[in-house]
Amino acid sequence: MNYDKFVSDCFNELKVKQEELTKKYDLNSYSNWFYDQASGLLTFTDENKELNFRYYEVGTFSKVSKTWKWSWDNEHTLKKVKEQIEVVKQFGIKHGFEKLTQGLFDSDEIEGWDFTSIATNLLNGIGSYRPETEKHLIFMVLYELVDNDKANEEKEMYVDCEKHERRRRAFICQHLEKNSENGFEEAFETYEDMEFEYDDDDFQAWFTKCEKVRIENDGWNDVSMDFAKIKLVCEKCYFEIKETNK
Ligand SMILES: [Zn+2]
Ligand SMILES: [Zn+2]
Repeated sequence: MNYDKFVSDCFNELKVKQEELTKKYDLNSYSNWFYDQASGLLTFTDENKELNFRYYEVGTFSKVSKTWKWSWDNEHTLKKVKEQIEVVKQFGIKHGFEKLTQGLFDSDEIEGWDFTSIATNLLNGIGSYRPETEKHLIFMVLYELVDNDKANEEKEMYVDCEKHERRRRAFICQHLEKNSENGFEEAFETYEDMEFEYDDDDFQAWFTKCEKVRIENDGWNDVSMDFAKIKLVCEKCYFEIKETNK
């Protein structure tokens, strides 16, 4: 397989997909964008309208150092949006395409589009987007349109933590904190980074005494809820607290 030929085929394919996507969703009529790595959602908004897509981050081009960095090589990029880009790397290894296998190297914006075209092809994307920040061009592959209500529900599954940035949400009772030695009763057994079995699962824990009140009240009702006063923390904080409350 010839790299230049492959890139040019992928580029032409993306061009067609991009035109279709832009037209189908009237993308140019939205003036604001916002992306959320935690939920993997890219949101376009304008007065009274919103559009959500799932995306993968291919990589970033630094306008300062004039370098390309694949997302899988970027420790600041969350797993949710970079995991699948591994497919591109493996493809590069298989075919001896070095640029797909090195994490960071001198490059330019055009090459960013080459890599994005390849990723769109290999991951069956529906188009791309390239937000710009002060120092970076961020190259993304869009792969699925998401219903707005569903998208907002998914975004609410994450919280911004002062210590751990943006993470999955978790619920604990008011009595639990680090080293509070209050026991740790969970809704179900958990471990870090676990995938939930059901979409509406959440990390939930409470102190031994709250468990007693809960049982006395036949579960969670106004009385037991008022005693527990459940609060919201991030997933990382949850496990830090769990570790010190056995
Ligand atoms: Zn409690
Ligand atoms: Zn936290």
